[in-house]
Amino acid sequence: MKTAITIPDDSFRDHFNEVSERGKRNWFYPQKPKGNWHTRRVLFTILILTLLFAVPFVRFHDQPILLFNVLERKFIIFGMFIGPQDYWLFGLTMLSFMVFIVLFTTIFGRLWCGWACPQTVFMEMVFRKIEYAIEGDATKQKLLNKAPWTNEKIMKKGTKYALFLLISFVIANLLLSYVLGVDELSKIIHEPIADHLPLFLGILAFTAVFYFNFAWLRDQACTVVCPYGRLQSVFIDRHTITVAYDHERGEPRGKIHKNQERPEGDCVNCYQCVAVCPTGIDIRNGLQMECVNCTACIDACDSIMDKVGFAPGLIRYTSENAIVTKTNKLITPRVIGYVAVLLLLWSALGFVIASRTDTETSLLRAPGSQYIENKDGTISNLYTFKIFNKTNKALMPTIKLENVEGKMIFAGKPDLQLTATGMVEGTLFITIPKSELRERKTKLTLATYRGSEKLESFKTTFLAPEE
Ligand code: SF4
Ligand code: SF4
Repeated sequence: MKTAITIPDDSFRDHFNEVSERGKRNWFYPQKPKGNWHTRRVLFTILILTLLFAVPFVRFHDQPILLFNVLERKFIIFGMFIGPQDYWLFGLTMLSFMVFIVLFTTIFGRLWCGWACPQTVFMEMVFRKIEYAIEGDATKQKLLNKAPWTNEKIMKKGTKYALFLLISFVIANLLLSYVLGVDELSKIIHEPIADHLPLFLGILAFTAVFYFNFAWLRDQACTVVCPYGRLQSVFIDRHTITVAYDHERGEPRGKIHKNQERPEGDCVNCYQCVAVCPTGIDIRNGLQMECVNCTACIDACDSIMDKVGFAPGLIRYTSENAIVTKTNKLITPRVIGYVAVLLLLWSALGFVIASRTDTETSLLRAPGSQYIENKDGTISNLYTFKIFNKTNKALMPTIKLENVEGKMIFAGKPDLQLTATGMVEGTLFITIPKSELRERKTKLTLATYRGSEKLESFKTTFLAPEE
């Protein structure tokens, strides 16, 4: 007896699966994932969440090791402070980070999305787990949503959304601990809320955003909002490792019939891979922008393969090239190009870090001013100066002449007390004995000190009458 072979449906190319034919949102009810890959992801999630919550409390040299204060343009990356004056350092760090992301994605696809992105980690491993625990698996959730508002439904929905709100509040605090630091954030606990109203309102606003994201937006954050997801098509190529369906082995797909010779491929068309997908796609349609590489379909398919007695791995981590040619090629000319660019950027970054100083001083002759010949045989020049503190701590620097004997007299009361990332400016006279000056224009070398520690050297010119 002949077995009918299912011809793959191509209609997925004509519509966006997040939206129904009537223009409404398709709400997905993914089945509870289970299997080896899911267990690995659970373990990895525990590690990621532990790190995520612990890092804001880790301090190095009395400051957090990571801080992203975008409001004040102050960043701390693994203990290195980057302030508003460090535009080179900031620019190169961001550029290196972006090239690294492109390189990583070219090789490993959306590995980040499936395993470490906070959106996926919280959505699939925290919020979705709560939903499964309270409302049950996909079918029960669908039935509950259609059911009338009984006491049981009110209890379940009420508990679920209360927990969602509570966790959104925790995530809002977590986010702000990376932006402002735990010290700043904890003030709201120890001091009156009225003294920190903007911070309090910020926490509430972010709680609302996270609640909206995890209770309603969900998969659309990855498929519609996230720019990284939308850029996948330019990052990945035939050699990129992704979660992929082995069409060479699986097609043509067809139902399994007991005790019959099978003319089809290994896909038994059970749709289990679709049923578990949190973004509602059919991985058998090939690489799709909506796939966040969550591995749920690998586990679902492996369990079916096990049941029907076929080898696992019909859906697995592989590349399109490996499926077709049976060989994996990770190092491609494109990858080599990205590595070369990244090495160049890292070298430049290393140089900027090595030559970075804690202060940035400029000392320029006052515009339009000339030299002054003093009665005691010395010459004076008038200067304006600016000192920027590039550190995250208060600083009281001094400026010294390095290559000639002379005096520096600050106009007004010299107060070189600099706040963290602060700036001080003023005017000063440099007075040098005529005997020290051999030319009309002498190059002066000066230095900024913190106590006896030299922070930076800089140069300026000094004018004197011609001999
Ligand atoms: S296709 Fe598979 S890996 Fe991709 S999102 Fe769906 S279940 Fe996850
Ligand atoms: S789970 Fe595996 S066998 Fe079932 S439809 Fe998907 S690819 Fe085919």
